[in-house]
Amino acid sequence: MPYSIAIDGPAGAGKSTIARAVARELGFVYVDTGAMYRAVGFYCLSEGIPIRTEERVCEAVRDITVRIAYDAAGEQRVYLNGEDVSVRIRTQEVGDAASTVSQYPLVREKLVALQQQLARESSVVMDGRDIGTKVLPQANLKIYLTASEEVRAERRFRELREKGQRISLPEVLREVRERDYRDMHREHSPLRQAADAVLLDASALSIDETIDAILALLDRTT
Ligand code: C5P
Repeated sequence: MPYSIAIDGPAGAGKSTIARAVARELGFVYVDTGAMYRAVGFYCLSEGIPIRTEERVCEAVRDITVRIAYDAAGEQRVYLNGEDVSVRIRTQEVGDAASTVSQYPLVREKLVALQQQLARESSVVMDGRDIGTKVLPQANLKIYLTASEEVRAERRFRELREKGQRISLPEVLREVRERDYRDMHREHSPLRQAADAVLLDASALSIDETIDAILALLDRTT
């Protein structure tokens, strides 16, 4: 039976950095589920599909294929209709579109099925918003990773800047707040801590300390 670790939490908590490192340490596959929602958001933006119109998005989603593959370095790549969009989905605009289209049940159904399939095939560290509550309710270890709003906005700000995107810190803070609000208050699979998840507040922890905290939890559960 493959082993699974679920890491959920709000935007900018460091989930992907931490999940990727934990997966590498354990020899597991890292599954970034946000990238799948971003691929759908990206598709809608590039095709001019109005993201606030559920019917239009759901119609579009029926015809697209989202596929996950891993390159030689073990990095996840996301293919949208056969095209590698891994780099193009990393903008604030696509993140916001992802947060809007991820509210629609049909979009979630399609991507959750893909996520569950990946967890059946390999041991995984999977990060997202609903992994512990919905996608992998039987995960062997569930973490709810969070940090203060300021720390999260600062981290996102630095990431976006490094990618050459021009955006100010107050703007990032506002968008992080809006996105979290939407993710936590939507009707389907809202972001919340699973009853059996361990809460990890990384505001005052370095990346290495956070990784060590998770590995220590793992020792205790195995
Ligand atoms: O984590 P990331 O910023 O890439 O996620 C983009 C958006 O995708 C989130 O704001 C959220 O709305 C959505 N998402 C989701 N469920 C997941 C992962 C991401 O609804 N499991």
